[in-house]
Amino acid sequence: MSELNTLAVVGAGIGGLAAALALGQAGFKLRLYEQAETFFETGAGIGLGPNAMRVLDQWGLGSELRQAGCTPAFLLSRRAEDGRIAGRLPMGQSFIEKYGAPYLTLHRADLHRLLLTAVKNQALAELFLNRKLTGIDVQSKGIDLQFQESSETHQVLGLIGADGINSRVRSLAFEADALMPSGHWAYRALLPIQDLPAAFHDTHIGIWMGKRLHVVHYPVRGGDYLNMVVLIESADLPSQAGWDVLRSTGQIHADLKQALKGCCNELQELIHRAENWRAWCLFDRAPLHTAEQMAQGRVALLGDAAHPMLPYLAQGAGMAIEDAASLAQHWQDTSLTVEQRLSNYAQARWQRVSQVQQRARRNGRIYHADGVLRMARDAALKLGGAKLMDMPWLYGFHSR
Ligand SMILES: Cc1cc2nc3c(=O)[nH]c(=O)nc-3n(C[C@H](O)[C@H](O)[C@H](O)COP(=O)(O)OP(=O)(O)OC[C@H]3O[C@@H](n4cnc5c(N)ncnc54)[C@H](O)[C@@H]3O)c2cc1C
Repeated sequence: MSELNTLAVVGAGIGGLAAALALGQAGFKLRLYEQAETFFETGAGIGLGPNAMRVLDQWGLGSELRQAGCTPAFLLSRRAEDGRIAGRLPMGQSFIEKYGAPYLTLHRADLHRLLLTAVKNQALAELFLNRKLTGIDVQSKGIDLQFQESSETHQVLGLIGADGINSRVRSLAFEADALMPSGHWAYRALLPIQDLPAAFHDTHIGIWMGKRLHVVHYPVRGGDYLNMVVLIESADLPSQAGWDVLRSTGQIHADLKQALKGCCNELQELIHRAENWRAWCLFDRAPLHTAEQMAQGRVALLGDAAHPMLPYLAQGAGMAIEDAASLAQHWQDTSLTVEQRLSNYAQARWQRVSQVQQRARRNGRIYHADGVLRMARDAALKLGGAKLMDMPWLYGFHSR
């Protein structure tokens, strides 16, 4: 099957769908290949900063997203051991005025569903399910793609690897670099908000900072559920790479009980209300240090395939969305070769995503601080408050 005027995107997660939507809206034919036979409700809550929301607004998804999600009025940072408030950042209307879009919290499945529907509604994107990419063969005029359990070869003009943290495209077309267990685990659960004390009924983001752990919660599904994430440092480093390393329910509850021992009652009670916890071992790569790590020849990477990051700035999906907008913009320069267009995309993106990867790691250290660093953090938050918690470099960024 030859489509030498067509770009292929491998992976239909948030990044792949965003790329398909942006390229389709810019008038380009593309093929989107996904290994799964069908889409399940995977993941949990996602926070989308105004930097990502502005892009989604431009793509016409803003009002449906706002209906599916919530616009938290403020972010409240507290100390996990005694519940004392460390800082408060007004969000809501204040973010809309400052950044031109809200900070939105929603369920990943809702974001995925809205992107998928938008991609299906546009004629230029063709979606192939049950196509697991296994090999590529770069020719002078295009690339041959091979898929598992299929004898057919698809020829395309160029390839975008949006196939997540364990990217096959990355391992086939780029120099190998190690995927590392970060030593951090994320435990995620959803609770109906109506079952919770009144303190959790308003729409705010809560962050509780403890020693070697922190907890984040925010409303999703139009405010019906509270998404909770407990992030814990652990010496348990699985050798198997992947986000979704499941632990037994009993083990998860034992982990949470042990980790939260030194935390205040309010936080412990909140966490122990939920039953449906799932555990993710968080893996990480070193931050990007050249554009060539994002694009080489006719192949480019996008989203977690290019720059997986710890979730401590809540920007993994946001960066994938920014990547997609930038890719579509650079792809429009048809006076250039495929290689030049992909290289320009990588040049425009790598420093931005590298900075976010680094700052996400740093945020983890600050949230989990102990001793002198913790005292300095609390003192700085007391003095600097909202100014320290806001991030104009992140939320005010306009992708190109
Ligand atoms: C605990 C936690 C909290 C988070 N919170 C936030 C947050 O608040 N805000 C935020 O912006 N981000 C957050 N993230 C990060 C965010 O979820 C990811 O960065 C984002 O979903 C990555 O999207 P992606 O499309 O790049 O990759 P993925 O979602 O992994 O999608 C990759 C797709 O490629 C497919 N695929 C893989 N291999 C192949 C192959 N060989 N052939 C074909 N298809 C293939 C997969 O099936 C999948 O559908 C969080 C992550 C975690 C773990």
